[in-house]
Amino acid sequence: MDFVTLASPMHPITYMSDLTKTPVPQEKLPRTDAEWRELLSPLQFQVLREKGTEPAYSGALYRNHTDGDYHCAGCGALLFKSETKYESGSGWPSFWLPATPTALTTHEDGSYGMVRVEVTCANCGGHLGHVFPDGPKQTGLRYCINSASLSFADQGSAEKTSTTKE
Ligand SMILES: [Zn+2]
Repeated sequence: MDFVTLASPMHPITYMSDLTKTPVPQEKLPRTDAEWRELLSPLQFQVLREKGTEPAYSGALYRNHTDGDYHCAGCGALLFKSETKYESGSGWPSFWLPATPTALTTHEDGSYGMVRVEVTCANCGGHLGHVFPDGPKQTGLRYCINSASLSFADQGSAEKTSTTKE
């Protein structure tokens, strides 16, 4: 179960978000494929529900550097914060830490002849991307996430939290 070790770094991590927040009503889930097709764009459906991958460098959020929150495009659950987004050069939005310890679920993925660790939204099960052990030193993890799986809320439109900025 290497992937469990991978997702649980040795050093304790301080999460920056309010862990008591549960923004998404789960009673509407799970949805049927037909319901998801109505809610999502064709690309979002292909990525989130059929585990597709958008072309590298194509995603709308790949070069987004605005401060704010990244939510699941399927259910709205908070997944990542801009503070942990970084340029990995991979062509997909990359993060070194999820917004909360319970935001994501990981699964071993043996497709395409590779053993990778798939990352899904813990709330709706939507496919987000993969996590690799070559991230920056804070956690050593690189969450390689499809733009199509994410919806971005910049800090101005989100609920303000008291954070100290340099
Ligand atoms: Zn979700």
